[in-house]
Amino acid sequence: MSLSYCHRHKRLWSFIQLSWVSFPKEKIDEISAYYDRLYAAHTDPSSLNSLSRAAFTIVETCCDVCTTVARQAVDAYIAPPQ
Ligand SMILES: [Zn+2]
Repeated sequence: MSLSYCHRHKRLWSFIQLSWVSFPKEKIDEISAYYDRLYAAHTDPSSLNSLSRAAFTIVETCCDVCTTVARQAVDAYIAPPQ
Protein backbone atom coordinates (compact mmCIF):
# COMPACT_ATOMS: atom_id res chain seq x y z
CA MET A 1 0.00 0.00 0.00
CA SER A 2 1.17 3.51 -0.71
CA LEU A 3 -0.07 7.03 -0.13
CA SER A 4 -1.47 8.71 -3.22
CA TYR A 5 -0.78 12.42 -3.21
CA CYS A 6 -1.22 15.26 -5.70
CA HIS A 7 1.46 17.87 -5.08
CA ARG A 8 -0.13 20.32 -7.50
CA HIS A 9 -3.39 20.55 -5.55
CA LYS A 10 -2.10 19.33 -2.18
CA ARG A 11 -4.66 16.52 -2.01
CA LEU A 12 -4.29 13.11 -0.38
CA TRP A 13 -6.37 10.03 -1.09
CA SER A 14 -8.00 8.99 2.17
CA PHE A 15 -8.56 5.26 2.49
CA ILE A 16 -10.77 5.94 5.49
CA GLN A 17 -13.05 8.46 3.78
CA LEU A 18 -12.61 6.90 0.34
CA SER A 19 -12.21 10.35 -1.14
CA TRP A 20 -9.61 13.04 -1.77
CA VAL A 21 -8.90 15.40 1.10
CA SER A 22 -6.82 18.56 1.37
CA PHE A 23 -3.48 17.81 2.99
CA PRO A 24 -0.53 20.20 3.37
CA LYS A 25 2.63 19.37 1.43
CA GLU A 26 4.65 20.16 4.53
CA LYS A 27 2.96 17.27 6.35
CA ILE A 28 3.68 14.89 3.47
CA ASP A 29 7.32 15.96 3.58
CA GLU A 30 7.40 15.41 7.36
CA ILE A 31 5.89 11.93 7.03
CA SER A 32 8.31 10.99 4.27
CA ALA A 33 11.30 12.28 6.23
CA TYR A 34 10.12 10.43 9.33
CA TYR A 35 9.98 7.10 7.53
CA ASP A 36 13.29 7.76 5.81
CA ARG A 37 14.88 8.27 9.24
CA LEU A 38 13.09 5.22 10.65
CA TYR A 39 14.42 2.94 7.94
CA ALA A 40 17.87 4.51 7.93
CA ALA A 41 18.15 3.79 11.66
CA HIS A 42 17.46 0.08 11.16
CA THR A 43 20.36 -1.58 9.42
CA ASP A 44 18.84 -5.02 9.91
CA PRO A 45 15.89 -5.23 7.51
CA SER A 46 14.47 -8.23 9.39
CA SER A 47 13.85 -5.97 12.39
CA LEU A 48 11.25 -4.16 10.33
CA ASN A 49 9.49 -7.27 9.13
CA SER A 50 6.21 -6.08 10.57
CA LEU A 51 6.48 -2.92 8.49
CA SER A 52 6.74 -2.79 4.77
CA ARG A 53 8.77 0.09 3.34
CA ALA A 54 6.41 0.08 0.37
CA ALA A 55 3.56 0.86 2.76
CA PHE A 56 5.00 4.29 3.27
CA THR A 57 5.75 5.22 -0.29
CA ILE A 58 4.23 8.47 -1.46
CA VAL A 59 3.06 8.20 -5.04
CA GLU A 60 2.51 11.34 -7.08
CA THR A 61 -0.81 10.98 -8.82
CA CYS A 62 -3.73 12.91 -10.24
CA CYS A 63 -6.47 13.95 -7.82
CA ASP A 64 -10.13 14.80 -8.18
CA VAL A 65 -9.27 18.42 -8.99
CA CYS A 66 -6.89 17.28 -11.77
CA THR A 67 -9.67 15.17 -13.22
CA THR A 68 -12.16 18.04 -13.09
CA VAL A 69 -9.75 20.46 -14.75
CA ALA A 70 -8.87 17.93 -17.45
CA ARG A 71 -12.52 17.18 -18.06
CA GLN A 72 -13.31 20.91 -18.43
CA ALA A 73 -10.43 21.29 -20.87
CA VAL A 74 -11.66 18.37 -22.96
CA ASP A 75 -15.23 19.66 -22.90
CA ALA A 76 -14.07 23.13 -23.98
CA TYR A 77 -11.91 21.63 -26.74
CA ILE A 78 -14.60 19.41 -28.23
CA ALA A 79 -17.51 21.81 -27.76
CA PRO A 80 -18.91 22.74 -31.16
CA PRO A 81 -18.53 26.39 -32.16
CA GLN A 82 -21.65 28.44 -31.63
ZN1 LIG B 1 -4.44 17.30 -8.54
